[in-house]
Amino acid sequence: MHPLDLPFTRTRHDRAARRRAETDVVEASLADPAARTLVLHRGLLAVAGTHVPTAALLAPVGLPAGQWLFLGEHDGAPCLALVLPDGAEQELPPGADAWLGLREVARGAGAVSGAGSGGQSGGQPGPDAVADADAEVLAHGLAVEAVALAGWHRTHARCGRCGGPTTAVQGGWARYCPVDERETYPRTDPAVIMAVVDDADRLLLGHAAAWPAGRFSTLAGFVEAGESLEDAVRREVAEESGVQVGSGPGDVLYRGSQPWPFPASLMLGFRARATTTAVRTDDEEVTEARWFTREALLAAVTAGDVGLPGRQSIARALIEEWYGGELPGAW
Ligand SMILES: [Zn+2]
Repeated sequence: MHPLDLPFTRTRHDRAARRRAETDVVEASLADPAARTLVLHRGLLAVAGTHVPTAALLAPVGLPAGQWLFLGEHDGAPCLALVLPDGAEQELPPGADAWLGLREVARGAGAVSGAGSGGQSGGQPGPDAVADADAEVLAHGLAVEAVALAGWHRTHARCGRCGGPTTAVQGGWARYCPVDERETYPRTDPAVIMAVVDDADRLLLGHAAAWPAGRFSTLAGFVEAGESLEDAVRREVAEESGVQVGSGPGDVLYRGSQPWPFPASLMLGFRARATTTAVRTDDEEVTEARWFTREALLAAVTAGDVGLPGRQSIARALIEEWYGGELPGAW
């Protein structure tokens, strides 16, 4: 199987981790006239462009006070994020048109690439379109990094050991507690998400208690402490659907990963082989689990009886990989 091509995973920039140890990495970056900055406030990004909003890459001059994060470099120019304090309302920085969440930005980008691939009558995209797409990937990759890092700072102002205040160091890539003389680093919470397929090549999808009627997606859940990814896949599928996943070679196949910084998840996608088909949901997280043939899923989606996850999600990619092509409709 080819690797999945997943939204949220394309990047153009270099994280330039070697520079984080420079004590003045932020100050040195701000002094560079080529530096570019994303601005965040209350988890939202300052975006530019009203038709297809993209995270705005602004010159870091004349911006309000806030926390600076070093994101890396692109073509030798530093890339930063400025996180404005949560407390007060903030004016949009010059050059930005709106505050928007990362998911909404991703949705806009997906709409554009979809329109381009469907409507054109052949031919290559022009150089402007390529440059625009490159700029969009650069901005989006930086935005995913910035949202994830800013989210960690938001909830880790205090030391996990002594409870005392910590300060950001290493360009925002660590927090330091002076009492314990200890650094802590940004957290990422691994979650497994899986396309469970039985020996008749049917796909298992679940409906979560919290969702509107008709919404179905792949099963998923967080990896527990001290647990392997393969065991997490088997446990989550059994808990949520009652279906057993095999423990033989190739029964749990890794397919790709996607950062999902809402607030700190890393989605690890798998294809899993079911060895049983009887369904029994936990009725708490998942209230319905159903096997679909390709024909039945296409018919249900086309009729509007089933809504599938959005095109920016790894769940969608796993479903469409099993299906063998694009499916219509998304919530
Ligand atoms: Zn401490």
